Amino acid sequence: MGLTRLGVLGWPVAHSRSPAMHNAALRAVGLRDWRYQRLPVAPELLLETVRALPGAGFAGANVTIPHKEAALALADEATDAARAIGAANTLSFAPGGAVAADNTDAPGLLAALGDLRPERALILGAGGSARAAAYALAQAGAAVAVWNRSPERARALAADLGVEAVSVPVAADMLVNCTSAGLTDPSSTFKELPLKADSVGEYACVVDLVYRTGGTVLAQEARRRGSRVIDGLEILVQQGALSFEGWTGRAAPVQVMREAARA
Ligand code: NDP
Repeated sequence: MGLTRLGVLGWPVAHSRSPAMHNAALRAVGLRDWRYQRLPVAPELLLETVRALPGAGFAGANVTIPHKEAALALADEATDAARAIGAANTLSFAPGGAVAADNTDAPGLLAALGDLRPERALILGAGGSARAAAYALAQAGAAVAVWNRSPERARALAADLGVEAVSVPVAADMLVNCTSAGLTDPSSTFKELPLKADSVGEYACVVDLVYRTGGTVLAQEARRRGSRVIDGLEILVQQGALSFEGWTGRAAPVQVMREAARA
């Protein structure tokens, strides 16, 4: 028998930590004939690539920027969560080639929070990850407010998911950054976000979906001011663990995945 393949579809995808994380997990549970690889695919080739993957030995794939909405649209079936969020980060292929879509970003965020459940959360951003975070936190019982640089996107998210759009940051016990602010130039983080570094400590918990080697400026400032910080790598690990369990039927070796993602 040949290899059973998994992968991550993105454009670009060169810097993804998912291959290291999943290959370490596959080795740890003894799935020697499974491999996880990068799948750099331009948007116009996504549909034909996904349709070809089952025949090439793929059992499933993660989906990252910019394909998450398109992945949901092309799937033959989808979970209620993926449909409500409007995006899929996990595809699974049936032996006949049917494509099933799921979104593990939402339960992955809750898993990364552990026992922590906010009463009120302020989400920054209105893209795919903000939609997953808003869905997850609202399902978990939080009152959710959403701010976005482009306010009309925040209003659309709020209307779709039954949360509140705000034009300025509001008080909350949890701040969740789902914007790419500061990603290219970390020193501009607090110029691009609607907050001053000094006010970050007003949020007891700060969740930053963005990750970078050495940590983000937002996470550093939040830690320095005594907030509890959940970083983007932990969320990456937890969403990956849920995808892994769906594909393999095995319990994910979360600590192995964490070490590989952080290496
Ligand atoms: P999208 O492209 O769907 O959304 C991007 C969001 O960031 C939009 O709200 C956009 O605002 C905002 N934004 C972009 N640039 C700036 C800026 N300079 N200043 C202020 N706001 C800005 O991306 P995703 O939601 O999929 O991802 C967002 C971030 O989260 C990415 O950095 C991604 O790497 C990270 N992520 C991490 C995951 C993890 O597992 N840790 C999972 C998914 C995402 P506007 O609408 O105004 O353009």
